[in-house]
Amino acid sequence: MSAAPVLFPAGPRPGVDPADTMDGRTRVVAARFRGVMEALGLDLDDPNLAETPARVARAYRFLFSGLDAGAEPELRTFPNAEGYGGIVAVTGIRFHSLCAHHFLPFFGTAHVAYLPKERLVGLSKLARVVELFARRPQVQERLTEEIASFLDSRLQPAGVMIVVQARHFCMEMRGVRKAGARTTTSSVRGAFADARRRQEFRAQIRRAR
Ligand code: ZN
Repeated sequence: MSAAPVLFPAGPRPGVDPADTMDGRTRVVAARFRGVMEALGLDLDDPNLAETPARVARAYRFLFSGLDAGAEPELRTFPNAEGYGGIVAVTGIRFHSLCAHHFLPFFGTAHVAYLPKERLVGLSKLARVVELFARRPQVQERLTEEIASFLDSRLQPAGVMIVVQARHFCMEMRGVRKAGARTTTSSVRGAFADARRRQEFRAQIRRAR
């Protein structure tokens, strides 16, 4: 299965650390955010606000660095020499993202599992894949699907299952204002269509808590 289409494609900006530079695109974001602040009637001479457009721009460049060219982690795989056929699971991967609808944070944990065939992947790379897709404007359902599709296409495993649990500030600070509510999404590929496999992974998630 091929990766889900990226709705917010990457721009050409390789090799620049967005945390401490003020490149062209960051300047544009800062200028436009200054306009937002002016539209809100804010006093941009207030010392607390004077540098805010630049700070917001740099923060956005970092929080959305998953859009940058070259942001995709290299998934170095190695042969499954022992023929391991069980679930490989990394649970409790913390992530922070911003919702595509309101640009407010949503954050929580992702649980990633795959059933290897010929190839295995370094476990830390699974967390990097979560980070890649979290550092884009996201909706939780698409985040979950994108992680599953990416791993399915890159690892060619027997199966993939992703479970994401998150709190959404756009729900807690506005809208229905339900503090602490958690949203759970999941996505399966291949052998995880089997209910026993799904139950096995869900049990692993519960035990790891
Ligand atoms: Zn939202």
